[in-house]
Amino acid sequence: MKEILQDLTREELGALVEEYGEKKFRAQQIYLGLMQGKRISELPVSPLLREKLLERFEDEPVKIYRTFTASDGTKKFLFLLADGNLIEGVLMKYKYGNTQCVSTQVGCRMGCKFCASTLGGLLRNLTAGEIISQILTVNRAEGGNLKDRAVTNVVLMGSGEPFDNYENVVRFLRNLIAEEGINISARNVSLSTCGLVPQMKSFADEGIPLNLTVSLHAVTDEERKRTMPVANKYKIQEILAACEHYFKKTGRRYIFEYSLISGGNADGEHAEALSKLLKGKPCHVNLIRLNEVKERNLSSVSEKEAYRFLGVLEQNGISATLRRSMGSDIGGACGQLRAKHLGEQHDKD
Ligand code: SAH
Repeated sequence: MKEILQDLTREELGALVEEYGEKKFRAQQIYLGLMQGKRISELPVSPLLREKLLERFEDEPVKIYRTFTASDGTKKFLFLLADGNLIEGVLMKYKYGNTQCVSTQVGCRMGCKFCASTLGGLLRNLTAGEIISQILTVNRAEGGNLKDRAVTNVVLMGSGEPFDNYENVVRFLRNLIAEEGINISARNVSLSTCGLVPQMKSFADEGIPLNLTVSLHAVTDEERKRTMPVANKYKIQEILAACEHYFKKTGRRYIFEYSLISGGNADGEHAEALSKLLKGKPCHVNLIRLNEVKERNLSSVSEKEAYRFLGVLEQNGISATLRRSMGSDIGGACGQLRAKHLGEQHDKD
């Protein structure tokens, strides 16, 4: 695979252009072109410079390979990478804007028992440029530009564990929030982690005040170990301390994801224990009914049970919402699209 031009920061592009003996303003032209989602072959530069760039860098590191549109307007994308790997993403349309869910790795090695992304393990990390290109490509395909963006919010909740690809993800975030670029405010970005405590602590010092989201999914370490292997490494109390640290450093409240699994973590006593665990903390709980994954034998709670769980949290003064599952009629949820596509390819072989 060639290098990825979208990995570079604005300053690094400046240095590159100088290295090629070009005038300084070229760097800005290239940068703005890339941020508009252009391929290198479409950049408004001399044919000679274009040729030099194409020799070293991928023309289009992330291509939209398939688009699926759900009845609620949610769009799912399968993206093709330069090395032939596929990743997936989702664009959810809300009244206040459009939220894109991006992947940070091809596959995942965290091994959560309910998740489709981890079924084939980790294939490789995505580079910063491959992560931002998912957004630049979709923004352009949806008719957005740099001023009037079709993507207004970003969640790092696609395939992969963002903090297992720390350096690339931080580089991506810096490029994403840079004012001269696509300029999506950190406040409109959510990063979800399964709870890698050392990286959570380091991230607090990066000065990127986003919505830090932790996949909790259990109220005790013993129960968490049943569905999340990472719980063997880090305790819930360590995770809570890392969240507090993030809050102290950034002033941003943190969020917990809690997927409700029938017969697992969703009884009344779990709701009470979760309330006790989080009482008085500057946090919010996002409940979601488990998306049932074909290869996993876990089932979701009913809508009624989910609302009952929410009710207990609310009664106990915990800020919480039950998230609507969007785009489920197109296999949108949680790594299922790529898994399904790879499965279909396999069926054909
Ligand atoms: N690696 C990150 C991002 C994962 S995806 C993390 O672990 O947080 C975003 C969220 O979807 C996580 O909370 C994850 O636990 C959850 N998730 C994964 N599979 C799911 C499923 N089948 N049903 C409901 N939530 C699921």
